Amino acid sequence: MSMRQCPCCQSDLTFISVLLAINPMMIRCSHCKESVKVNAMYALPIVVIVFSMAMGGWFYLESQALTLPTKLAVVGILGLIIEYAYFAGLRRGIIKSTLIEIDE
Ligand SMILES: [Zn+2]
Repeated sequence: MSMRQCPCCQSDLTFISVLLAINPMMIRCSHCKESVKVNAMYALPIVVIVFSMAMGGWFYLESQALTLPTKLAVVGILGLIIEYAYFAGLRRGIIKSTLIEIDE
């Protein structure tokens, strides 16, 4: 299984760097601060899908008799799962980016 690594310092992409990325199409390497650009053809549909799902999910939760902390916890957990899936996709090269492939 080959993993994608930073083109500048060859270190692995970390989940934290994906999590902290303000722009999901521009992720900073946590080691050398090099910007990793995600292919817009892949990133844009994902951002649109995630945003629609988040909006839909929020309206669904709004219609339920849940307290605000419960709703925020559900949204937070779902957000983490989506971020992790995005991270896994980038790391495996399913989502194209400027990360380079290194065979181990
Ligand atoms: Zn780096």
